[in-house]
Amino acid sequence: MDDAENITESNDFISDFIAEDLANRRFSYVRTRFPPEPNGWLHIGHCKAMTIDFSAAERFGGKCNLRFDDTNPEKEDISYVEAIKHDVKWLGFDWGKNEFYASDYYEYLYELAVKIIKKGHAYVDDLSEDEMREYRGTAVDKSNITETPPGKNSPYRDRGVDENLDLFKRMRSGEFADGAKTLRAKIDMAHPNLVMRDPVMYRIRREKHYRTGSSWCIYPMYDFQHPLSDAKEGITHSLCSLEYEIHRPLYEWFIREAEVFPSRQIEFARLNITHTVLSKRYLLRLVQTKTVSGWDDPRMPTLAGLRRRGYTPEALRNFMSRIGVAKTDSVIDIALLEFCLREDLNKRALRVMAVIKPLKLIIENLKDGEEILLDAVNNPEDESAGKRTIRFTREIWIEQDDFEEIPPPKYHRLYPGNSVRLRYGFIVNCVGFDKDEAGNIIAVRAVYDPATKGGNAVDNRKVKGTIHWVSAAYARPIEVRFYDYLFTSERPMDLPSGVDFLEGVNPNSLKVISGAFAEPCLAQAVSPVAEGGQFFQFERQGYFVRDPDNGADGRPVFNKTIGLRDTWAKIKEK
Ligand code: ATP
Ligand code: MG
Repeated sequence: MDDAENITESNDFISDFIAEDLANRRFSYVRTRFPPEPNGWLHIGHCKAMTIDFSAAERFGGKCNLRFDDTNPEKEDISYVEAIKHDVKWLGFDWGKNEFYASDYYEYLYELAVKIIKKGHAYVDDLSEDEMREYRGTAVDKSNITETPPGKNSPYRDRGVDENLDLFKRMRSGEFADGAKTLRAKIDMAHPNLVMRDPVMYRIRREKHYRTGSSWCIYPMYDFQHPLSDAKEGITHSLCSLEYEIHRPLYEWFIREAEVFPSRQIEFARLNITHTVLSKRYLLRLVQTKTVSGWDDPRMPTLAGLRRRGYTPEALRNFMSRIGVAKTDSVIDIALLEFCLREDLNKRALRVMAVIKPLKLIIENLKDGEEILLDAVNNPEDESAGKRTIRFTREIWIEQDDFEEIPPPKYHRLYPGNSVRLRYGFIVNCVGFDKDEAGNIIAVRAVYDPATKGGNAVDNRKVKGTIHWVSAAYARPIEVRFYDYLFTSERPMDLPSGVDFLEGVNPNSLKVISGAFAEPCLAQAVSPVAEGGQFFQFERQGYFVRDPDNGADGRPVFNKTIGLRDTWAKIKEK
């Protein structure tokens, strides 16, 4: 894939900025932070953000903090904190002891708010949320909120410092109802950028916070809290996604007014991927509506979902380095992600055989109970993975697709009179088949040639097809889950107005087959969501991993991670 190679070379403008800041002594060290809000599970977009945050620090010998940006009591929860930490570790990023919570800064933030009030640069407002919106004015063009006709001043804007200090204190002590008052920065109601029109710094909200309980009834807003939290931690470069670009003047305003460490905000493009929704709000709706089984459903773009599906940290990190750190938004083709995944799985996956839609093949010249031991290579890409023994018996399972009574053109598998090689085993020649009364093929008959064992024996009979199989005497029943994109549309969020994104959900994104058979070693397979998880290639079928759940009657479940490219399927389509 040439595209993939080209993207690798994208230049890293963030490193350039940082190098410049060090060279001209704006900063003497580098410190970054990854600031997830614990209101949902991390998705692959966060993986981009954290890759950028951690690698920028590493490149300049600095550290990256993990900061929970938890100043919004409604939706935050400790279970999300745990899930996030698990995911960051899984990706291989290490924050060491540098785990912080914005909710620990409430007192510090309160003091800075007081400082800004004292300077005459913040005021308590009594306008309601709706009134405030009206006073602020509306963008003529919603995509351009930095050129909006002037708003008008709140009638409370000119309250004196003492009155503001008193009211703010009483806001904190719980004297006023939720929403009755706010603390606002006094900037400029005619500022062309809407974000700068006296933004709210604090709101009153009686809601229990998962860490601070009921000790606060006022909560700081993101735009006020974030730069000052950065400053508190001595963050030099606050890297965030592009939607914060219009907030940068405000970020700088709060740092200046609070007279704190001059953290610098730099924006990068958000990650968007075709067929994928990357926003916690929408992912939460998929979970709440039970469109998926949970945050870790293998169709979800969450790190937990990807892990359960069989994605590896290496594949994800490789993908991140291939897409680079762009400065403008774009949509990455999911095929590139899949390419990175296949590349990694090809190196690590253990090759095994499993038959998804079984058809019995009877070897007529083998007796019942007779078995021949065969050597199978575990991974041709990795000699250290060794070999295993598989057993060839009179009755084996092959795929229904690998036999045709009347072969179509270019069909090189089994049909009456034709020979194929059984993977790791012998060449067999089809001598007949059995049908039931309804005319369904229920078994195929063949004879094997003992001189063709393992493909190593002198073999002057050329056969064009090799098929996989498992011994019916030894195989274990498994359930297999096949996945398709959760959204058929390449851009699931490009919707006509009034259309809910859930309408675009692919009704066929999950297919379950419970009557498959696999080599006996797969009964012990470990899901990659656990320590020591394994990755498999079911030969000719694709890459699979064990699911943590078991299926009907306790049989192991395997998730298809991704296919190998099957050229036959394409020819067949034509
Ligand atoms: P979402 O839009 O999914 O709710 P968010 O921005 O609200 O995401 P946070 O937990 O606040 O989620 O994000 C933590 C960090 O991850 C932020 O710095 C944010 O810029 C970054 N981030 C979130 N989504 C993406 C994405 N798709 N691509 C790159 N960075 C992202
Ligand atoms: Mg956010």
